[in-house]
Amino acid sequence: MSDYVADFMAHIKAKNPSEPEFHQAVKEVVESVTTVLDKHPEYRKAKVLERISEPERVIMFRVPWMDDQGGYHVNRGFRIEMNSAIGPYKGGLRLHPSVNLGILKFLAFEQVFKNSLTTLPMGGGKGGSDFDPKGKSDDEVMRFCQGFMSELYRHIGPNTDIPAGDIGVGGREIGYLFGTYKKIRNEFTGILTGKGLNWGGSLIRPEATGYGAVYFAAEMLATRGESLEGKTCLVSGSGNVAQYATEKILDLGGKVVTLSDSGGYIHDPDGVDRDKLAFVMDLKNVRRGRITEYVEKYSSATYTAVDPGADCNPLWDHKAECAFPSATQNEINVKDAENLVNNGVYVVSEGANMPTVPEGVDVFLNKKILYGPGKAANAGGVAVSGLEMSQNSMRYSWTREEVDSKLHGIMKSIHKSCVEASEKYGTPGNYVNGANIAGFLKVADAMLDQGIFG
Ligand code: NDP
Repeated sequence: MSDYVADFMAHIKAKNPSEPEFHQAVKEVVESVTTVLDKHPEYRKAKVLERISEPERVIMFRVPWMDDQGGYHVNRGFRIEMNSAIGPYKGGLRLHPSVNLGILKFLAFEQVFKNSLTTLPMGGGKGGSDFDPKGKSDDEVMRFCQGFMSELYRHIGPNTDIPAGDIGVGGREIGYLFGTYKKIRNEFTGILTGKGLNWGGSLIRPEATGYGAVYFAAEMLATRGESLEGKTCLVSGSGNVAQYATEKILDLGGKVVTLSDSGGYIHDPDGVDRDKLAFVMDLKNVRRGRITEYVEKYSSATYTAVDPGADCNPLWDHKAECAFPSATQNEINVKDAENLVNNGVYVVSEGANMPTVPEGVDVFLNKKILYGPGKAANAGGVAVSGLEMSQNSMRYSWTREEVDSKLHGIMKSIHKSCVEASEKYGTPGNYVNGANIAGFLKVADAMLDQGIFG
């Protein structure tokens, strides 16, 4: 680590104690952009890095809600408005018991660079709550969402901050949040993305993150004259991103042999075909069950419970060529990364945000595999959210084919930006540096243009 990075990180840690995920995300960007700062002293003079790692605004609030038995509960709600240099704050809401300020700051920070890469005019933000939707009734989830929006509505708006979904927030939750906003404000505006199709949503938004991660993998493979046809793929998670990554892998001729949830994973050597995927979608999106039910239905598969405290996750220890981590942050540790490359994986396209620990990223970079970091590879979701905002503004809807083709074009353009930036700054093939540098430059220049408040 250079003296500059060490000094900068000491300052970040002192100012933001007990936020390890935020430190991890900032360090990766600072390491990547040091060469840019060396060439462009104007960024250092204007303290762009210090400003970009300080949220413009942090909102933290109480969310009281009542369960079906009339019991009272209190959760904590957050919205991090990280950076608005290139557009209104944009980023998802996460409902998960692990949510805290540091995790949302890491996600909001990543979002700034990701949104910049999409080429669309969106700043970065993130929010959520430590509320756990698992095991709650629809009515309880609705009352929680109403309580959450009864405070959040003061801080968001179609030209200010436009939240979307993330872990634990899908179409059901976006509906309850939107209904509450509309009731309080008495206005029907594009205040959230991921909306239902008959009330302002965009075709392909549910599919976008997973499809995008697979398009990104296909672009990386194309640099070696290869495609996904016939490739065996490991996918983690079984939620929104994992489901549609699986669908697109099938479209492009690949074979998915794993899926997981927080309890464990299934391994199906015959592959998850379209019928099996339809079963998983119904299981997870409608019946809200556990992935272990897959093996009761399909005898070709085995289920393995995963201990989060174990030294490695056996999901990443199967023979394959490609991996699509699509569950959560830091789900691939250094041992998992070694297992992946030792098993023949040479394409990793991250559907989740920051799913690989820094030492694991080093394994991928040292082995020179095709490694697409989340902020580039999973940017398709927010890109189609941006397209949903455009359609809302125009009061018009594009067809499925139109949105998919724009998504595909954006993923190609993100890939190209990463390749060009990594080459220009002396680390060809390093998509981590490429994504961080290309994302940073656009935001940094906008901040310079807008003066000290930029
Ligand atoms: P979902 O809530 O739809 O699915 C999340 C999946 O990951 C579930 O299978 C869940 O299992 C599993 N999971 C969650 N937390 C953990 C954990 N701590 N350990 C193991 N498994 C876990 O979320 P999404 O699919 O939307 O999000 C997945 C990832 O993709 C996240 O990192 C998110 O930030 C990222 N992402 C999502 C975007 C989107 O558009 N939705 C956009 C860009 C990135 P269980 O059901 O047991 O909780």
